[in-house]
Amino acid sequence: MHPKDGRVERSAVLWHLQVCMVTFYTQALPKDDNKRKPYLSLQFTDSVDCAHQGLQAFTIAAPPRYFLHLTTIHLEGNQLTHLPENLWHLTGLVKLNLGGNQLTTLPPDLGRLIALEELYLHDNRLCSLPSQIGRLKRLKVLDVMRNPDLRTLPGELVHPSRSLWVDRNPCQPIPNVFPSLFHLCAQLAGPSLATTDNNNLPLYLFDSLTKADLASSPVAPLCSICHTVLYYPGIPLLELKGHRAPFTNYGPLALLYHVCSQTCRSQWLKDHPLVDKFP
Ligand SMILES: [Zn+2]
Repeated sequence: MHPKDGRVERSAVLWHLQVCMVTFYTQALPKDDNKRKPYLSLQFTDSVDCAHQGLQAFTIAAPPRYFLHLTTIHLEGNQLTHLPENLWHLTGLVKLNLGGNQLTTLPPDLGRLIALEELYLHDNRLCSLPSQIGRLKRLKVLDVMRNPDLRTLPGELVHPSRSLWVDRNPCQPIPNVFPSLFHLCAQLAGPSLATTDNNNLPLYLFDSLTKADLASSPVAPLCSICHTVLYYPGIPLLELKGHRAPFTNYGPLALLYHVCSQTCRSQWLKDHPLVDKFP
């Protein structure tokens, strides 16, 4: 059942026939439909388990309203690079496990899963998370471990009334300090680059951050203050939470916010008091 040579193309379809079904195929979707060979069909009630099947494609048959009762989907340990659009219509989901795949990006529609309490994204290749993730008010667990290109998290994730566990994945070992890179970065970003600790800029952070990281998120973020959708990068604002642990290469948590205007920037600076001084 588990292809070890990596050459077998596997896919699965979530569909509905009185009950919720998943059929696994040994051909990739969608082109050679008639050549697909089903090798397993499983029936599920409220929790769907498609973990560790070597899947390269996962689709959800329309209409998604048949699956609104689903509370859990396990897709961990596959080889998915894309997720079906219909997934973002399953607003009953409480737990979604996408760990151990090949995902590089998630769409803003992730913010539609408002019942979500646990979201597992570890061991992927994510470069950023959509700021709409901040709309998931019930989210308690966010696991983003081992996404080596994920250097910042959307600041919208942090909310005082939320008991959010964020694994410090972006705080991968950071190489030695190169102050010249900071100057380069400051030059590129200009006065729009603000941190909550302007007098003590953590130079080591800029080793791995570029203006591209700050400004060109693959999804349209929301203004952190007035929540309008930004179809341009907006003004990036960086907040560093926590300390740089002594004698290690682990830095503080880097949170990235975007605001739409100087007015919202001023408000943001007012709302974010200075964090602890960095060494
Ligand atoms: Zn704004």
